[in-house]
Amino acid sequence: MAKYIGPVCRLCRREGEKLFLKGERCFTAKCGFEKRSYGPGVHGKSGGRSKSATGRESDFARQLRAKQRARRVYGVLERQFRGYYEAAVKGSGLRGLNLLQQLEARLDNVVYRMGFASSRSQARQLVAHGHFTVNGRKTDIPSMLMAAGDVVEVREKSRTTSYFKELGEVAQKRVYPAWINRDMSNLKANVLRLPERAEIDGNLNEQLIVEYYSRR
Ligand code: SF4
Repeated sequence: MAKYIGPVCRLCRREGEKLFLKGERCFTAKCGFEKRSYGPGVHGKSGGRSKSATGRESDFARQLRAKQRARRVYGVLERQFRGYYEAAVKGSGLRGLNLLQQLEARLDNVVYRMGFASSRSQARQLVAHGHFTVNGRKTDIPSMLMAAGDVVEVREKSRTTSYFKELGEVAQKRVYPAWINRDMSNLKANVLRLPERAEIDGNLNEQLIVEYYSRR
């Protein structure tokens, strides 16, 4: 299971905005972007973005940034992200939406959306440690894609751990989307359908991502 292991807050600074990758910490004064909202590296304070001769960001730079932003939000490495794009091209309908729906359908994202983790990276860790079942079967694969009708549940054995015993009160405060039906008392959720575009992060620009891969 390959994953990014570098400094996380640096990714927000690179994208020039908060990506909320660290859960609760992102809403505190400890947020790395709140302390240093300029880009990382020696050229960070002076901008450091590739610009065209007119001083504006080039089309390529905008496409690249849109792709990188989405990759970082979902915590997916390049090769896997490209794989999602290729699958999106083969699917019917809009390839940009297909891409985003696959990212949203990842098990780690579903666990995060259920409110059972404060960030996707925490959800990924919980899944990798085998705390969940899908349709009654134990899994430790964060990238497993969920479909309508799937049931994600905390494993019987894991329910007695302090994390899941204390989760109830915290998770109740977390809003979950309409495409998921959460059953907090039984620590499980049903995936009712894949999300519509309006239910996915509006700051993601799938059109630019499609343009990025189309020109390569
Ligand atoms: Fe980004 Fe969260 Fe780090 Fe702030 S604390 S820089 S929002 S990952």
